[in-house]
Amino acid sequence: MSFIEDARWFAAPGAAAADARPGRVTLVGAGPGDPELLTLRAVKALRGARLVLYDHLVGKEVLRYVADDADLIYVGKEAAHHTLPQQSIIDLMLRLARSGRSLVRLKGGDGFIFGRGGEEAQALAEAGIAFEVVPGITAAQAAGACAGIPLTHRDHAATLVFATGHLREGNEVALDWQALARPRQTVVIYMGVGNLSTICAELIRHGLPPGTPAALVEQASLPGQRCVGGTLQDLPRLAQQHGVRPPALIVVGDVVALQPQLLQGMQAIAA
Ligand code: SAH
Repeated sequence: MSFIEDARWFAAPGAAAADARPGRVTLVGAGPGDPELLTLRAVKALRGARLVLYDHLVGKEVLRYVADDADLIYVGKEAAHHTLPQQSIIDLMLRLARSGRSLVRLKGGDGFIFGRGGEEAQALAEAGIAFEVVPGITAAQAAGACAGIPLTHRDHAATLVFATGHLREGNEVALDWQALARPRQTVVIYMGVGNLSTICAELIRHGLPPGTPAALVEQASLPGQRCVGGTLQDLPRLAQQHGVRPPALIVVGDVVALQPQLLQGMQAIAA
C-alpha cells in the first residue's frame, strides 16, 4: 500500500491520458471508526480498490482492508491543520477519474451526512463520471448504540434531528433554534464541541428546560470512547472538566436519561 502525502502532484495536469475511458468512483461511508461497523459492501469496495482517497475521520483500522499494492491518498481535513480545500479534492478526484483511474472516495461515517458527499456526487454527475454510493453507519447511530442512548423511544422522543454545530463566524446563528428546542425530540449535533456553550445556552433560551438531559459522546465506537452525561445547564462545565475533544457528538433529549440503565445492562452482559 503506498501512501501519497502530497496529493497535488499525483494528478498534475498532463498526467491524464486524454483518450482514456473515465474511471468509476465509489463513494464509500467508512462508518464511525470501528472496522467491524463497515458494511459488507464497503469492505468489498475497499478490497477491490486500486486507488483510495480518504478523509481525516476514517479509522486507521478501516484502511487495512485496502490491498497492499493500492495507492492511498490522504485528503483529510482537520481544524487548524494543513488541508486540501474541498474544491481541490473535487478537482483531484475528477482529474484522476478522467485519466482512467477508478477510485474509492472514503469518508467517515456516512458520506451524505455532514460529509460533503453530496457536493462530490454533484460534481461527478456534472462531469458525466459514473459513480456509486455506499452508505455508512453515521456517528450518531454509533454514539447511540455504543453509549446506551436510544435515539428514539416511544415514551420520550418521536422526532430525531441531526444538526451541525459548526456555526458561522462571529457566532452568527445559523441554526433554527426554535425547531431544535421542541419537546419530545432528540437532537444530535455534529461538529459542535467548540460551540458547546453557545449551543446549550441557545437551546435553553429557546425553551428547553435547563435540566434537559444532554451528553457528549467522544470517539464513538473507538477504543478511546468516552461519554460525559449531564444536563443542558452543566454540560459545558463538564466538557471542560473532562477535556472532551473532537470528534464528539452532542446528544440532547430525554432519551439521554435512559443511559445509566442501559449501560448497566450492556456492561453486565459483556462481563
Ligand atoms: N459523515 C460523518 C460526519 C462528519 S462531520 C458521519 O456520518 O458520521 C464530523 C463530525 O462527526 C465530528 O465533528 C463529530 O461531531 C462527528 N463524529 C464523527 N465520528 C465520530 C465518532 N467516532 N465519535 C463521535 N463523533 C464523531
